[in-house]
Amino acid sequence: MPNVEKGDTGFDIHKKLSDEIDNMYPDYTIYPACDYAVGFLTRGCIRNCAWCVVPKKEGSIKPYKKVEEIARKDTNKIIFLDNNVLASSFGISEIEYLTKSNYKVDFNQGLDPVW
Ligand code: SF4
Repeated sequence: MPNVEKGDTGFDIHKKLSDEIDNMYPDYTIYPACDYAVGFLTRGCIRNCAWCVVPKKEGSIKPYKKVEEIARKDTNKIIFLDNNVLASSFGISEIEYLTKSNYKVDFNQGLDPVW
């Protein structure tokens, strides 16, 4: 199938989306039951846990998207998928922004408090 792009971590750890695709805003209309935004503030991680592919795939932690690039206009709920957002000064500044907003958020991956 010529229009199918195979990828993701389980298929090829080094394969990346083009910037054009990676920077597209998600089309939430294809998931009508979903009432929250999903995204990453940061990518990568400062740690190097033996079992984990994040540092191998994404490198060290780096800024990725601001809250406003992830948020939806039709809901104030956001699920963040960051691997280790507290290891990033950018991530922390975005969290400080969130504390002054009315967003309801869920950080559902690692939160590494000592670094
Ligand atoms: S802290 Fe989490 S994301 Fe970072 S290398 Fe370890 S398991 Fe992976």
